[in-house]
Amino acid sequence: MSVFTAMEEKDHEQVAFFRDSDTGLKAIVAIHDTTIGPALGGCRMWDYATDEEALKDVLRLSRGMSYKAAIANLNLGGGKSVIIGNSKTDKSEMLFRSFGRFIEGLGGRYITAEDVGTSVKDMEWVRMETDYVTGISRALGGSGDPSPVTARGVYVGMKATVKKQLGKESLAGLKVGVQGLGHVGYYLCKYLNEAGAKLIVADLYEPSVKRVVDEFNAEVVGVDDIYDADMDVYAPCAMGATLNSDTIPRIKASVIAGAANNQLESESSHDRMIREKGILYAPDYAINAGGLINVANEIDGYNRERAFSQAEGIYDTLMTIYDLAENEGIGNQEAAAIVAEYRMKEVSKLKDIHLPRKNVMGKRDQF
Ligand code: NAD
Repeated sequence: MSVFTAMEEKDHEQVAFFRDSDTGLKAIVAIHDTTIGPALGGCRMWDYATDEEALKDVLRLSRGMSYKAAIANLNLGGGKSVIIGNSKTDKSEMLFRSFGRFIEGLGGRYITAEDVGTSVKDMEWVRMETDYVTGISRALGGSGDPSPVTARGVYVGMKATVKKQLGKESLAGLKVGVQGLGHVGYYLCKYLNEAGAKLIVADLYEPSVKRVVDEFNAEVVGVDDIYDADMDVYAPCAMGATLNSDTIPRIKASVIAGAANNQLESESSHDRMIREKGILYAPDYAINAGGLINVANEIDGYNRERAFSQAEGIYDTLMTIYDLAENEGIGNQEAAAIVAEYRMKEVSKLKDIHLPRKNVMGKRDQF
């Protein structure tokens, strides 16, 4: 595959390849779009079978980040990086410091963070070489675990979706099925329990199930039975692609609102299938943007209260998406993309207004 052909396909701005023989680093950074601001997105460490597979993944993931940042009303663009290697056996301080030096060399066009296969500790090594990294521990002034903010965003997003679909202001008395009781699922259950919702839960990991049963009096169903459960709201908070041609026909809930990434197996056909079934679906990257909002808050000095308050904005964002989808007769995933693209286009117009250049001290030159 020609790199430029691949970049042209989804309109990427920049792809940087890094290699360092001393540390064994092989990494790719993809910057999709910086119209709204510097590209922010996590660094995935994965044992890709081929370089082509790694490139394909980083291009796909970085584009997704442009849409997520735009829809979350953040002044950030979309980027992502991949380190080609085994996250269990190939990690070292020097590998991540080497990666940090390369990131520094991009001059702030890309800001990294943790992702699948990387951890807060790895990002702290990156931080030794560059300031362009987020997802540092609270102890070092970073934003720490994003899950409570993600869960809060999902909770307010669920309220918006219920309001639109069922006309109810509150979740009290509603039966909510939560698939996946990990970092986000647990906090979501906590918020739902406080709001008076009845919980129906499923997880592969028994201790996580026991915890929500003990703390929130949840009803348990088997991992394969959650789709058929008698529930008003379904909250997928585990893996991607769980909304597909097998599961959608089984879902009795009239609202789907959960944290998982890439919930639709096929973005177009399953978006349509859900709409035709009369279910109101909260587009994943709009409702789960709390995690990105949390790390983005590190850039100007982390403030937990501000992160939670920005996550509340997910309510209005979803309402905008639902109104557009209703008016245009389209699926919510499609409407979300239109709202995100609109913001990118509108911000780019601001750049037509001339501003004097900033000098090295960050001050505007006088003319
Ligand atoms: P996690 O790994 O802590 O939890 C996932 C849970 O899902 C685990 O307890 C696992 O046992 C369970 N699980 C896996 N397969 C399952 C199945 N088939 N049925 C039932 N349970 C199953 O992950 P997390 O951080 O809670 O994230 C959950 C989802 O939300 C992921 O898709 C993630 O990409 C997305 N997300 C997370 C954040 C965040 O802040 N952590 C932000 C945005 C999106």
